[in-house]
Amino acid sequence: ATRTNNNNIQAKLVFLGDMGTGKTSLVLRFVRGQFFDFQESTIGAAFFTQILSLNEATVKFDIWDTAGQERYHSLAPMYYRGAAAAVIVYDITSMDSFVRAQKWIEELQRQGNPKLVMVLVANKADLERKVKSEDAEQYAQENGLLFIETSAKSAQNVNELFYEIAKRLVKAC
Ligand code: GDP
Ligand code: MG
Repeated sequence: ATRTNNNNIQAKLVFLGDMGTGKTSLVLRFVRGQFFDFQESTIGAAFFTQILSLNEATVKFDIWDTAGQERYHSLAPMYYRGAAAAVIVYDITSMDSFVRAQKWIEELQRQGNPKLVMVLVANKADLERKVKSEDAEQYAQENGLLFIETSAKSAQNVNELFYEIAKRLVKAC
C-alpha cells in the first residue's frame, strides 16, 4: 500500500479462489450493494475501485477480480504483483474449494512478500456447510491469515471484510 498523503492510502486488493466460490459476488456486494443469483462466471469487469473512510485514514482500494482465468488454476503473476492484500475465497459447501484455497495461499506464499495481508474467506455462509469453520480457522491461524465467514447473498460480514483489511493496511503503512 502507498500513502499518497498523510491520510490517504491506495492499495491493490486481489481476489483469488476457485471458480464459483463467490469472488465476483462479494466484490459486487461491496461496491454496488447488489447480488445476483445467476452470475455469469466469465463475465465481469475485472477492475473496481472503492473508497473506505476510517477515522484515522481513507483507503482507496483498487480491486482486481478474476475474469474466469481461475478455471485453469493459475493466474499470471502480474495479477497479484504489487498487491497489498489478497482475499482467498472458498465456498463452505465445497470441500474441494477449501483445498484449492490452500493451493492459492501456497502460491502467494511462494511470492515471498511478508507484508502482504491475506484473508481467508468462507463464503456462502447462508447455505448448509460441508467445511467446518474450526478447520478453516485453525488453518488460517497457523498460516498467519485473517479468517472471516461471509455471505454475498445476505451481505453478512461483507463490509466487515473490507474494513478489517483497511484497518490492517493503515496500521502497516
Ligand atoms: P466466482 O466465480 O468466484 O466469481 O463466483 P460468482 O460470484 O460468480 O458466484 C458463483 C455463484 O454462486 C453465483 O450463482 C452466485 O449467485 C452464487 N453465490 C455467490 N455468493 C453467494 C453466497 O454468499 N450465497 C449463496 N447462496 N450463493 C452465492
Ligand atoms: Mg468471478
